[in-house]
Amino acid sequence: MEYDSNNIFAKILRHEIPCNKIYEDDFALSFHDINPQAPVHVLVIPKGPYVSMTDFTRDASREEIDGLFRAIGAVVSKLNLEKDGYRILTNTGIHGGQEVPHLHFHIFAGKRLGRMLVN
Ligand code: AMP
Repeated sequence: MEYDSNNIFAKILRHEIPCNKIYEDDFALSFHDINPQAPVHVLVIPKGPYVSMTDFTRDASREEIDGLFRAIGAVVSKLNLEKDGYRILTNTGIHGGQEVPHLHFHIFAGKRLGRMLVN
């Protein structure tokens, strides 16, 4: 899938629409999900134009990949999620239920999150 620079996270990265920011560095931005599914529900996105883990792991530089994963760790630390635990999820494509076509990691926490998949 080709990257669509009109997606909502691209607009957040260009500061065209606001976000409730948690963390930012050269490679990643993290902000609160607008429609939280858990007491803590935050998103971490790369700053580069990637749709999913497929193009990210194929096309991103080592610095970008390193930066994104370190940013996820930094957000977990900043929100003190390590002690009680958390879940990271990335939806991809139609079967994955991806709504926004810019790679993003959901971090859920703040309660027991139950089964991984509810059918
Ligand atoms: P996904 O279904 O994995 O693509 O998830 C997209 C997520 O983006 C959903 O959890 C939405 O609630 C969230 N979302 C959509 N628009 C915004 C926004 N403007 N600010 C923060 N989160 C958003």
